Amino acid sequence: MTRTRLARTFVLALLPILTVTCTTAPKADYPAAPVPFTAVHLTDAFWAPRLETNRAVTIPHNFKLAEETKRVKNFELAAEAQAGARDLKFCTAYPFDDSDVYKVIEAASYSLATRADPEMEKYIDGLVAKIAAAQEPDGYLYTSRTIGGPPPQSWLGKERFSNLYMSHELYNLGHLYEAAAAHFQATGKKNLLAVATKSADFIAREFGPGKRTNPPGHEEIEIGLVKLYRVTGTRKYLELANFFIDARGKTEGRIPYGREGHKELLYGEYAQDDKPFVEQTTAVGHAVRAGYLYAGAADVAALTGNQAYVAALDKIWADVVGTKLYITGGIGAAGAWEGYGPPYRLPNASAYAETCANIATFLWNSRMLRLELDAKYADVMERILYNGVLSGISLSGDKFFYPNPLTSYGQHERTPWFTCACCPPNVARILSSVPGYFYAASGDRVFVNLFAQGTGKLRAGGTDVEIAQTTEYPWKGEVKIEVKPAKAAEFTLAVRIPGWALNRPVPSDLYTYTEAADGAPVLKVNGETVAITPDKGYALVSRKWQTGDVVELSLPMPVRRVAANEAVEEDRGRVAVERGPLVYCAEWPDNDGRVSNLVLADGTPLASEARPELLGGVVVVKGEAEALSEKAGKIIIEKKPLVLIPYYAWANRGKGEMTVWLARDPAKARIAREPGLSAKAKVTASEKAVNPRRVNDQLEPEGSDDAASYMHWWPKKGTLEWLEYGFEAPVRVSESSVYWFDDTGGGECRVPASWRLLYKSGETWLPVKAAGEYGVAKDAWNAVKFAPVRTAALRLEVQLQKDWSAGVHEWKIK
Ligand SMILES: [Zn+2]
Repeated sequence: MTRTRLARTFVLALLPILTVTCTTAPKADYPAAPVPFTAVHLTDAFWAPRLETNRAVTIPHNFKLAEETKRVKNFELAAEAQAGARDLKFCTAYPFDDSDVYKVIEAASYSLATRADPEMEKYIDGLVAKIAAAQEPDGYLYTSRTIGGPPPQSWLGKERFSNLYMSHELYNLGHLYEAAAAHFQATGKKNLLAVATKSADFIAREFGPGKRTNPPGHEEIEIGLVKLYRVTGTRKYLELANFFIDARGKTEGRIPYGREGHKELLYGEYAQDDKPFVEQTTAVGHAVRAGYLYAGAADVAALTGNQAYVAALDKIWADVVGTKLYITGGIGAAGAWEGYGPPYRLPNASAYAETCANIATFLWNSRMLRLELDAKYADVMERILYNGVLSGISLSGDKFFYPNPLTSYGQHERTPWFTCACCPPNVARILSSVPGYFYAASGDRVFVNLFAQGTGKLRAGGTDVEIAQTTEYPWKGEVKIEVKPAKAAEFTLAVRIPGWALNRPVPSDLYTYTEAADGAPVLKVNGETVAITPDKGYALVSRKWQTGDVVELSLPMPVRRVAANEAVEEDRGRVAVERGPLVYCAEWPDNDGRVSNLVLADGTPLASEARPELLGGVVVVKGEAEALSEKAGKIIIEKKPLVLIPYYAWANRGKGEMTVWLARDPAKARIAREPGLSAKAKVTASEKAVNPRRVNDQLEPEGSDDAASYMHWWPKKGTLEWLEYGFEAPVRVSESSVYWFDDTGGGECRVPASWRLLYKSGETWLPVKAAGEYGVAKDAWNAVKFAPVRTAALRLEVQLQKDWSAGVHEWKIK
């Protein structure tokens, strides 16, 4: 409930390395180079339509919203301010809103690189002119300060760079640099690149040993600086990225950050600044910040050979994949700080798993893959991409999720935009560049990392090679790979054998399949079966290749049940379902409107079925579930058909229940209760109550800190508040039970100081004659009986504790 939002991501386009001012050419680098997305052409039924929707819908939508929400206007005002205009006002909510414009330009540039669009190119040129005009003469670029007037946030700090913890001055620039590199590579134009290098030269003058030494509170500039270095060859940009990473967690030379009353030098775990980066061993704090730091550190490690960075990255990665990764590839369990929670704490309904955090972690893993050439990183990438990234965007391409929960009681819905709009343009830029993650090349080894029908063009064995995949992946596991060298050549084709096909859903013991595998991968070369002996997850095929050579990979795709490590309390007694790389979920439209009361018993057969007409064409999973409900006061169990859809496709048919982790143990299902008296009441509440109607939704909590469905008064504290049940006609009531919400350890809600019940008598509110205490126990129903009243309205009056807020899960009356 304490939201401090920000956000965002990136990619790895290595297009032509053009020379602007080439002071030193890169020497050390990643052992494998990606085959750029411009050289990979997807023609499949899964990605190709998504990329087209991204080009035709998502990118224009992002530009439109950036204009409508006045993010673009901020740049115009910054220019006017420099021309002498006074009394101007920043138009949007956050100082990092500039970055959304940069990110859409980056996304559009990737799109332009594969398909010319003169109109879009012209529009971007107009935007670039506005950005250039907003830049101050010395290179400083940050519209919220340049505009002047009342600052949108205390986050700005009084002076330039005086509150780097929250100002996002350097964060914005990281996205500017990424956009500039992409735009230059796509169009050959230097207009945005000139803005970026002017900015980076200025930052290099201001920051570094003996100068300013505070690192950014929100990482991202590191990635951007590395991209600028790759494009320009200017080594000081790489050195500055390295400097910013090294500056974390060290007080030397640091300036206390600027919010009034704050004197701490370090930003703490929230910003991965509690200790030097090379001493960090676990993933902590804000998950997008963390992901960009790790991605930037991998870049610097690749380009400088810094093994201490690699050692830190390996440890942090093991912590994430071993204890903090949602099965959907979602990252960041805790909404309170938009970030990593403790090990194995992976709540489902309240999962944050911000789209940007999932993207950031995907980008980090894509770098680890090229650094260590181990397919375990591609396993994580694939899981994130097909599940946790795609769930961030609607099938229509114009609605987005910020958090990506694994359970919903109907409270979640994608929206066209957010006040903090980091996620929408982030999805756009990742989708634009998806083809760039399929192949990589290292020496005489060609890596096939992901599968989709289409072609990739690359160099291997001293000749041009086209790799052509024919497959219906991710729906079918047969992949035909034709290798077409321009002339016969010797090299090794390294075909990834996905972990899921080798009985290992993730490269850790966080998740396991509950049953033995049914079939094993088969590899054939020119029709002859060859043994698969995976080397770091790859089947290696070395030969003198010539046109006509065909490698066929067959990956059995049975429906698999997955269990979480017992240490994950929220998933105990539950089971998830996967098929191939896709995680499945049960959603309300396919299951009679309700899924939280379903039990998927062990051993119940599950089968797949292609449904080309459903949700853009999916394979569903079908089986039978037991539904628990209350009828005439008794609990009954009914068998029902169960239909599961791919998780990425949920929430495209309206709001309602969804769950990834189905109850396996009946005790974990939520019984569908008969509507009691409270369910028939109209709920009203005191001012600024949040989600009051959840108090009679009949979703019984599993504990006071259950974040599934509750109302609260946060951020109000210490006040007198109320909830009210109103009835069309008077009802007789004699008993009330309240389940208090309390998020000690995560938020600021506590059980109340005191409370009482009032009923409406005419126009007057009178207290009921209670026969016992008004309890404030946690993790329990607080029931109170009272002398029966006939009334049209009942009121729960709540005195919040001093300095604390409060909330209610459920309020039942009889
Ligand atoms: Zn985001």
